[in-house]
Amino acid sequence: MKKFEDPEKLRSWARKARLAGRKIALVPTMGALHAGHLSLIAAAKRKGADEIAVSVFVNPTQFGPKEDYAKYPRDHAADAKKCAAAGATAIFFPTPENMYASDHSVWVVEDGALSGSLCGARRPGHFRGVCTVVAKLFNLVQPDFAVFGQKDFQQAAIVRRMARDLSFGVEIVVAPIVREESGLALSSRNAYLSAEEKTRALALSATLKELKAGVAAKGALPWKAARARAAAALERAGLAVDYVEAVDAADLTPVKTLRKGNAVLLAAFAGKTRLIDNCVV
Ligand code: AMP
Repeated sequence: MKKFEDPEKLRSWARKARLAGRKIALVPTMGALHAGHLSLIAAAKRKGADEIAVSVFVNPTQFGPKEDYAKYPRDHAADAKKCAAAGATAIFFPTPENMYASDHSVWVVEDGALSGSLCGARRPGHFRGVCTVVAKLFNLVQPDFAVFGQKDFQQAAIVRRMARDLSFGVEIVVAPIVREESGLALSSRNAYLSAEEKTRALALSATLKELKAGVAAKGALPWKAARARAAAALERAGLAVDYVEAVDAADLTPVKTLRKGNAVLLAAFAGKTRLIDNCVV
């Protein structure tokens, strides 16, 4: 597995691979890799990638001033080991300085159709940072496809829209959420949780499961009442609800009745840690 810090070295590696006719997959991450991230590498393999480049970059521009940029877990040595074992062929650890010129001034901004709600509404500037860094990675690697996790449902929808609207020619593949046996969705931020907070966090996946079962049993659920029950269950478990939303899975517009194929998205705080989860019911 090749290791790069310099974006131009990554670019020339990718160019050579492309000219040799090799199919290139990109897996963007912020590191502190877990089985959820590794499942994206496995998905790239299954899809027939000859080269799999994993980027590990805690992207400063997608964090708000009061968020956890400084304390976000970082472990490059462990990440490299896990990537190599999972079958990645290149890993990219850029620094903020070599990704952003000191006078960087051009951004990729989704106009709000997809980013104006949910996490986009609560984390101003977040998706501007995400789109900009993903666009830069697409330009450096020019992959055939890129793999993202359903864990970040809104992010996947926005990146897919960006790839289409800006004609990147990169196919966006979305891989399912990997969970602990308890149901808790794997996340690098789970490392912040105390044992008690982790127990409280189980209410997220349990609530989603209940809503999915409700739709399976009844065909449809009036969302206002279902939403109130879901929010109450999260609060009862000791979580502070940030949002509980039901949307059309394709365009993220809110629905009044929850039906099969819709997505439910949750965000809640366990102590100071903000967790997100979702499912397509
Ligand atoms: P992150 O490092 O949190 O920015 O995540 C990098 C990529 O891994 C994103 O596309 C995430 O959606 C994906 N990812 C994170 N957690 C999981 C999970 N539990 N299952 C599947 N994919 C995940």
